[in-house]
Amino acid sequence: MTAANIDVLVVGAGVSGLTTAVCLAESGRAVLVRTRERPAQTTSFAAGAIWGRVIAAHERASHWGQQTLSLLKPLAKAAGTGVRLVTGMEATRTWSAPHPWLAEVDDFELCRPAELPEGFVSGWRYTAPVIDMPRYLDYLVGRLLQAGGRIERATVLSLASVAEVAPVVVNCTGSSARELVPDDEVRPTRGQLVVVDNPGVNWFFAESSTDLTELTYFLPHGDHIVLGGTMEPEGSDTTPHEETAAAIVRRCTAVEPALGRARILSHRVGFRPVRPQVRVEQTDLDGGHVIHNYGHGGSGISLSWGCAFEVLNMIESRTATPS
Ligand SMILES: Cc1cc2nc3c(=O)[nH]c(=O)nc-3n(C[C@H](O)[C@H](O)[C@H](O)COP(=O)(O)OP(=O)(O)OC[C@H]3O[C@@H](n4cnc5c(N)ncnc54)[C@H](O)[C@@H]3O)c2cc1C
Repeated sequence: MTAANIDVLVVGAGVSGLTTAVCLAESGRAVLVRTRERPAQTTSFAAGAIWGRVIAAHERASHWGQQTLSLLKPLAKAAGTGVRLVTGMEATRTWSAPHPWLAEVDDFELCRPAELPEGFVSGWRYTAPVIDMPRYLDYLVGRLLQAGGRIERATVLSLASVAEVAPVVVNCTGSSARELVPDDEVRPTRGQLVVVDNPGVNWFFAESSTDLTELTYFLPHGDHIVLGGTMEPEGSDTTPHEETAAAIVRRCTAVEPALGRARILSHRVGFRPVRPQVRVEQTDLDGGHVIHNYGHGGSGISLSWGCAFEVLNMIESRTATPS
């Protein structure tokens, strides 16, 4: 692939950029991904992650979520994807009805009060894809290369400056879209997690709450388990905070005592690209054509395949329209 025959330049190699690039490359397009950071340095790498904690506003978010769910489920049966189907519990500290999107998951059932951890008053069980993001991003990179796509490290200084690289540029820069677009509706929102050795926990737990600053959740990935978490709108520190990590372990251990003896393996910090509405939208820019795909907040993995297909549809309807 030379610069002269690139069909699409995707900016960003987090879950949005890589999934979009896979989708476009598998549709037969010549795709180049340009990224400032390696996938292992992105927010996507830091995420827990579980499908479905959809806190992203868009009239098509439910459709994108369902589409992503239907693509993640079969990946749980394939080796090396990092995706597994896990049954677990979501619970609330004040009474709340289950989210409407839970109608789409398997095995949904309400919990009896006696089944809930101390301090929780309502809850439900279901089975959902749990995604080990380091492995999943590796899997997406492999799938992209297999489809003929290419990845290069470089910082894009402005979207206009890359307009001549390809007829279509897809902007998947997550919270950095705030500066690149620029778009001051994007609010990078800090999240911190702790990764521990899995002492044998095979269920997930996720606290559901409208106060999202401190959440309790754990997501098992076989030999290790990710404990969460925080959502800090004012936080900008990439260094993990010791006291935050200790509080996360304490909250998770209160729900699953086995976690109290788990060895800490690492800490993760990421910045959710929070925006009042996800932006999947096309626009002409200085002679080029840009499709934005960013602002997924705390749901970027859960919406990734749906948004990637939306971008593909935009490109297909553009090329189908006579100029
Ligand atoms: C702690 C935590 C837990 C989470 N848990 C979940 C979960 O359970 N389920 C879920 O669905 N979501 C979850 N999320 C949210 C999810 O991680 C994000 O929505 C998603 O990762 C955003 O992906 P992205 O690809 O859009 O952005 P990013 O992963 O941030 O990737 C952006 C890419 O753009 C590149 N880039 C930026 N600027 C430039 C530039 N100027 N030039 C070139 N490249 C550039 C970066 O280098 C990077 O490659 C969680 C997030 C956090 C922080």
